Amino acid sequence: RAKECGRADVAFFHAGMDEEVRRRHALERDLREAVARGQMTLAWQPQADSATGSVRGFEALLRWQHPERGPVSPGVFIPIAEASGAILQIGAWVLRTAAAEAAGWANPLRVAVNVSALQIQQGDFPQLVRDVLAETGLDPARLEIEVTESLLITDTERTRRTLDALKSLGVQLSLDDFGTGYSSLSMLRNFPFDRVKMDRSFVSSLTESDNSAALVHGILGLSRGLGLPVVAEGVETEAQFRVLKAAQCAEIQGYLIGKPQPITSYDELTHGGSAAAAA
Ligand code: C2E
Ligand code: MG
Ligand code: MG
Ligand code: MG
Repeated sequence: RAKECGRADVAFFHAGMDEEVRRRHALERDLREAVARGQMTLAWQPQADSATGSVRGFEALLRWQHPERGPVSPGVFIPIAEASGAILQIGAWVLRTAAAEAAGWANPLRVAVNVSALQIQQGDFPQLVRDVLAETGLDPARLEIEVTESLLITDTERTRRTLDALKSLGVQLSLDDFGTGYSSLSMLRNFPFDRVKMDRSFVSSLTESDNSAALVHGILGLSRGLGLPVVAEGVETEAQFRVLKAAQCAEIQGYLIGKPQPITSYDELTHGGSAAAAA
């Protein structure tokens, strides 16, 4: 009887695995068609100057509305798109769409786009950026490319050349999710970044312990030493905001300032109105 139970558990476990693998394959297949079928959209999240509260820019965050499953989180589908290579086509769509939307804003705010390591490492990414800037007429200085630390530890020399080529187009570069990977701030000296984004995990623990606060102050102090402004991600509370502002963290992004939403929700910022003064 116990033996039967054990076997049943094993069978159940395998059924669960199969289900997971099937789900992944189905998503991988559906992802290939998602752009062409108009299921992808961009949500925009504001980034504000911590001293003045003025919005400086928006980050474009990809949203997938699956016809049967409903919204699928980027945390789920981006890794699948990266593993299958679909991120190359999807990423090009994100860049083009974000630039085209932002080129039409009345205020020349910054527009940050997330780019996967594979996009940087394959083909001619700077050429794609050059084409998109030419097609959309977006001022290169308004475009910011966000990359993550994993990019900096593989194929370092080629990566540095590609990032240098992007810089020579006049676009800005930021290091996303800083502190979660394997890079160190000293590595940053070797790459032409304009800004560092401190990962949400540091912000969320900020007001919980003295050690967490010390870590955040350490990141801010070292970044300042390197001349790199920091954007804090995931700021949700006034208490977090106050500490970051006092520590001279340059910019704040998070639900406290605004959630990722269609740009029409931020019309007053991107189409004149009260924000014209802030821009
Ligand atoms: P990320 O670039 O670090 O983006 C920040 C994530 O934190 C977003 O999750 C955003 O919705 C969430 N967030 C912002 N403020 C808060 C807050 O106050 N509290 C909490 N709890 N969360 C907050 P999202 O949109 O689910 O995206 C997750 C990740 O997926 C992004 O992390 C990015 O790495 C990736 N991603 C999103 N869009 C793209 C894209 O177009 N291309 C690529 N390659 N990756 C993308
Ligand atoms: Mg990002
Ligand atoms: Mg991030
Ligand atoms: Mg993050």
